[in-house]
Amino acid sequence: MLLKNATLIDLNPARVELSHLRVTGSLITARGWHLRKNAGEKVVDLKGKLLLPGMICAHTHLYSALARGMPAVKPAPKNFLEILKKIWWRLDWAHNEETLYYSALVGAMDAALSGTTLLIDHHSSPCHIRGSLKLIMKALQEVGLRGVLCYEVTDRGGMPERDAAIEENVDFISAHADHPRFRGLFGAHASFTLGNDSLRACSHLAGELDSGLHIHVSEDLMDDNDARAKYHRSVIERLDEFGGLNSKTILAHGTHLSPSDVERVKEARSWLVHNPRSNMNNSVGYAFPTRFGERVALGTDGLSSDMFAEAQYAYFKSRDAIFDNRGRKSEAKMEGGPLDVVNSLAQNSKLASEIFGAKFGRLQPGFEADLIVLDYAAPTPITKDNLAGHLIFGLGRDNVESVMVGGRFVVKNRRIPQLDTEKIFSKSSKLARILWDRAF
Ligand SMILES: [Zn+2]
Repeated sequence: MLLKNATLIDLNPARVELSHLRVTGSLITARGWHLRKNAGEKVVDLKGKLLLPGMICAHTHLYSALARGMPAVKPAPKNFLEILKKIWWRLDWAHNEETLYYSALVGAMDAALSGTTLLIDHHSSPCHIRGSLKLIMKALQEVGLRGVLCYEVTDRGGMPERDAAIEENVDFISAHADHPRFRGLFGAHASFTLGNDSLRACSHLAGELDSGLHIHVSEDLMDDNDARAKYHRSVIERLDEFGGLNSKTILAHGTHLSPSDVERVKEARSWLVHNPRSNMNNSVGYAFPTRFGERVALGTDGLSSDMFAEAQYAYFKSRDAIFDNRGRKSEAKMEGGPLDVVNSLAQNSKLASEIFGAKFGRLQPGFEADLIVLDYAAPTPITKDNLAGHLIFGLGRDNVESVMVGGRFVVKNRRIPQLDTEKIFSKSSKLARILWDRAF
């Protein structure tokens, strides 16, 4: 397929160029103004529309997609642990096979329509553990997206549940080590719900399977306080002790890490996934993500997989955090401008490239043909120097017109042509009520 007359946009290094792009099979195979139609080749004239690499969400929870609009819990949770106990641990418990499938399906549809082509998901459904990751994979396949999946191991439901979760990770990781569109990671909930035996087992098995650990880390201060009270160590020290801290590990949040913990994370080259909207929503604090250096990616933590919105919030939060409530300049003064946020979006592609052993995130020959077409009437020039400004202050999911994953269009003219969206939403709405009734 020849994509003609596209404004090709690379994020890092930033590049903006009107040109043509050739896609052969699942890969980009050529780029340049000189390209001419080959015999039998399909040609799509993009008439100057923007073409970007597909967005990647580095941490999400598809099981929460049916939470949108659910009734508020009363009395309202007073802190982070209560938010988990009164909301999310009830919702995940209430899932059965059908609600889980539809939750993943509508979450994946929302992601695709936002221009997100790959989701790194962290899953929990204690009443339906075994087979749950395959079910999520099936939903992602219906939409045509890629996924990196894991099941969260925790001690909170007792040992039989924990062991089923461990087996679910092992099976999924083993079965998808070479899959073109899916990979498994080893999911672990968080330090405060994992005793030493469990955390050791997760770290050990992740290493044995040559997979990464995907775990929430110091999302709230209580996680670190818990580790210090019970084990006389920080969360990061616990992870490090069990061999869970390495370059394949994904640490979600990292909101309350000490300077020495941050250094340990950087030395281990683990990934830090910043989730600004979720952190603000849960009032857990700010991670000061630039402290972690280059290996910072962006996630949504189960809010919509709209990475344009997440990037914008990341930027505004970084600006807002410069002053504390007494008007003093805080630690955030070292936070950068829009460019840092755009670089984080580009780093999501690097993370995906490392997980898959393939090339994601640039419009160059040899890279995966995961592409998004944006219809954006720019009121000002777009150049490589001001691209970040357009991403933060102008572009959004409403501009996403078409989405390609691995050389195949999965969204065309803002619709998912292979799915009956109306029918699916009618069914998911009915199931959402059943799920809410069961949960609360
Ligand atoms: Zn999370």
